Amino acid sequence: MQYVSTRGGVKPVSFEQALLEGQAEDGGLYLPARYPQLTERWESFRDLSFTELAYEIVSLYATDIDSLILRAILDEAFSTFDDDDIVPLVKIDDLHVLELFHGPTLAFKDVALQVLGRLFEHTLNTRNQVLNILGATSGDTGSAAIAGVQGRDGIGIFIMFPDGRTSRLQELQMTTVRERNVHCLAIDGSFDDCQRILKSIFNDIEFKRSASLGAVNSINWARIMVQIVYYVYATLRYNEPVTFSVPTGNFGNILSAILAMQMGAPIRRLILGTNENDILARFFVSGEYKRGAVQQTLSPSMDIQVASNLERFIYLYLDGDSERLVQFMQEFAEKNHAVLHRNGHVDTTIDAHRVDTDETLKTIRDTWERFGYLVDPHTAVGVAAAAHARSDGPVICLATAHPAKFPNAVNEAIGKSLARHPRLDALYEKQARKVKLPADQEKVRSYLEANVIS
Ligand SMILES: *Cc1c(COP(=O)(O)O)cnc(C)c1O
Repeated sequence: MQYVSTRGGVKPVSFEQALLEGQAEDGGLYLPARYPQLTERWESFRDLSFTELAYEIVSLYATDIDSLILRAILDEAFSTFDDDDIVPLVKIDDLHVLELFHGPTLAFKDVALQVLGRLFEHTLNTRNQVLNILGATSGDTGSAAIAGVQGRDGIGIFIMFPDGRTSRLQELQMTTVRERNVHCLAIDGSFDDCQRILKSIFNDIEFKRSASLGAVNSINWARIMVQIVYYVYATLRYNEPVTFSVPTGNFGNILSAILAMQMGAPIRRLILGTNENDILARFFVSGEYKRGAVQQTLSPSMDIQVASNLERFIYLYLDGDSERLVQFMQEFAEKNHAVLHRNGHVDTTIDAHRVDTDETLKTIRDTWERFGYLVDPHTAVGVAAAAHARSDGPVICLATAHPAKFPNAVNEAIGKSLARHPRLDALYEKQARKVKLPADQEKVRSYLEANVIS
């Protein structure tokens, strides 16, 4: 399989190149040159386990990874999950929930990142290369990246976070990891300071190259690819077309559903839920993409204004017309505002809704009272969006985090202290390790120079 850049400015590349590069050199994002069709083999997939299905789907795209090695990577990656079904589908009356939070850090990003870390390790080793991942987190997403690469050969990871400004639990999920290739950098400053330092270090192309620095953000094709698997797996559990409700930030998770549809999976519609950071909800209703200011909400992993993966959707929407895509992206970069079209709804298969804080809390409470089922605030956004949407046929809500990851919001909503998980409780007993650094890019750079893998 070859991969093309949405911006059309580079030659097609192999899977391994798309994996290692992340973003294309023309600033675009990689997409496969075509979408293999599942329709003919659909019935034969029904009896496969999640891991077996993952192999069938991933091997269509990761065509340059040896098949035995790929099988081993997937087996190992999903053996870190604590449920035999990996992503169990829970049905209580008309509430259908696909639980994506059974991985090491109890959030959906584990599904892709457990595979990604192992794909990186294998590909780097065969090429005799190393990678030092540098990232910044406001608290929630750093731990899944760390869990994906901890102890992997040839990979170092350096995650900056604002010291004292993440929750204690979020900090412990990162700092209790013992592997030597993991460096938690507690920056004496804000998340914006961390991002500023990250940008300035990545802008130094010479240093970036000499230190083999890279990122693991949600634009990496391999993450989108792995996520396709759970949409297909859940759809296979039904004998009629289904609808998914997806709480959305960077448009990464829901994009995988769109690609599952492109591959012929019988998905009727997608419901997109945002919190108060509703740029995507506004875009899908009006065709206008307009940046607002980022607001803090109960669902911090969706506190995003610019959804980097939307570029892939727009490329598909424009039938691969890179010239028009580049125009759209440039206009947005210059004016913080761009219009895809002016006649209302962008796509009849995507039903977008904004869910505010009050409704999120109310949804957590109602879901608990009606079904005896606890949802985290991100999942609640999707459940609430589904309640607003048209319903024809089964609707599957994606549960993107375990409720115990966000105990304050959940316990406040239900008025009881029930949001707990033994693995999170155990973190308080473990030894933590972090490196305190001032919000000074020179100091961070010196630390990197002394500690990168070479
Ligand atoms: C990252 C994240 C999301 C948003 O996923 P996108 O791919 O950015 O849309 C939703 N919920 C949780 C818990 C997350 O960590």
